[in-house]
Amino acid sequence: MAERKVRVRFAPSPTGALHIGGVRTALYNYLFARQHGGDLIFRIEDTDSNRFVPGAEEYILESFKWLGIEFDEGVSFGGEYGPYRQSERREIYKKYVGGLLKSGKAYIAFDTPDELNAKREEVSNFQYDASTRMQMRNSLSLSPKEVDGLLAEGKQYVVRFKIEPNEDIHVNDLIRGEVVINSSILDDKVLYKSADELPTYHLANIVDDHLMEISHVIRGEEWLPSAPLHVLLYRAFGWEDSMPAFAHLPLLLKPEGNGKLSKRDGDRLGFPVFPLEWHDPKTGEVSSGYREAGYLPEAVINFLALLGWNPGNDQEIMSMDELIKLFSLAHCSKSGAKFDYKKGIWFNHEYIMMKPDEEIAKLFLPILGEHGVEAPFDKVVTVVGMMKNRVSFVYELWDACSFFFIAPTEYDEKTVKKRWKEDSASCMAELMEVLEDISDFSIENQEKVVMDWIAAKGYHTGNIMNAFRLALVGEGKGPHMFDISWVLGKEETLARVKRAIDVLK
Ligand code: GLU
Repeated sequence: MAERKVRVRFAPSPTGALHIGGVRTALYNYLFARQHGGDLIFRIEDTDSNRFVPGAEEYILESFKWLGIEFDEGVSFGGEYGPYRQSERREIYKKYVGGLLKSGKAYIAFDTPDELNAKREEVSNFQYDASTRMQMRNSLSLSPKEVDGLLAEGKQYVVRFKIEPNEDIHVNDLIRGEVVINSSILDDKVLYKSADELPTYHLANIVDDHLMEISHVIRGEEWLPSAPLHVLLYRAFGWEDSMPAFAHLPLLLKPEGNGKLSKRDGDRLGFPVFPLEWHDPKTGEVSSGYREAGYLPEAVINFLALLGWNPGNDQEIMSMDELIKLFSLAHCSKSGAKFDYKKGIWFNHEYIMMKPDEEIAKLFLPILGEHGVEAPFDKVVTVVGMMKNRVSFVYELWDACSFFFIAPTEYDEKTVKKRWKEDSASCMAELMEVLEDISDFSIENQEKVVMDWIAAKGYHTGNIMNAFRLALVGEGKGPHMFDISWVLGKEETLARVKRAIDVLK
């Protein structure tokens, strides 16, 4: 048999912001598709109209655009297998539901919600299945005449999947190996509802994966319990030969303790669980996003890639292209992956370090603008190059290096007490004269001239440098002293020293 073309899909339900776990699922699908020269499809599973949230689809698309995850086909991308939004595929599903009814693999059930609730109260752990279905009101228990009558009256119904009991169902999972469950634990799942003329998730998902020629279903572990049912559905349709391979990805776990990562963990510990900031249209609640929190998309991708997969060695920094080369489902773990958000911060720092200073400077410009600073781009690039090793986020550059752009107006009291000695004013006045005479204001030359002067005068280097730093920075921090004076230039350096003498003497 010819090798099957790799076609994978990311199929979110537009019920709100995309959780970071969903982003990882999409990323793994993307890496897998690219590695195999296959297609990645974006399908919207919106058959549950009660849970539809406006704006969610746009949000998801914008998230992937930001992260650099590209789709080949699907909603907003087009393609040969459309429509890709399930609410636009009603007629297709109807046809397939009809087929299952005809072949006796499914049946019509008229039980109202009230009747079902009454039954659940009457029988504990009630399950609608082979052992109970004949006590219910459906096309198996009622006569054809009664069924036709109810349909003619326009009574609402659902279509249920007729699951044969006592059969071991084998699911071959590329990550978990063979998973076997007995069909008796499954209930006769609802596949279709006449009320909204829409299928449920299970039916639409299988029909679409089949029609869209999906080769691999790579999705979160929370869908593993549905997989046996899905296997049975493929069989009921006679599609076992083209059934996709399954791979269920490990859960993302809380950073500390046990259990699934939740939004509350993020709120409590201060990290986002969404790619972009999300404004909930119903509650008005605003949730933070990685983009707005100052993460670089490359850092988020690299961080997520390693949550549940590793390259087989301890390499950590990988570009998207490297990930595409290295990714493999065989190296995905079965057990949950702890969401170590601090590692995400570390990745952000690493990517700030790796990126050209010009690129970081461009990201820093709007932050400078917010503080009313307009500076020549060259200067911003230089400052970024000197200071970026100290920050994990671009916005942190402001605190680290605002003094390069704004002269101090106040001097940190503690530093003044400790560093501004009795003779500091006169020493700084002398230093001004020394600096004034320097025509080559390069870092090296300044350092040489000033050090020679200090040595000739027998001054204490530390005292001079500390006072000089206080004058230029306003406190005791910053990089190498002559780096600072070089960036500021002679005129600004002298002005700052003069001002410090005036204020502090
Ligand atoms: N619509 C499902 C979701 O929201 C898709 C599950 C699957 O990939 O089969 O995750």
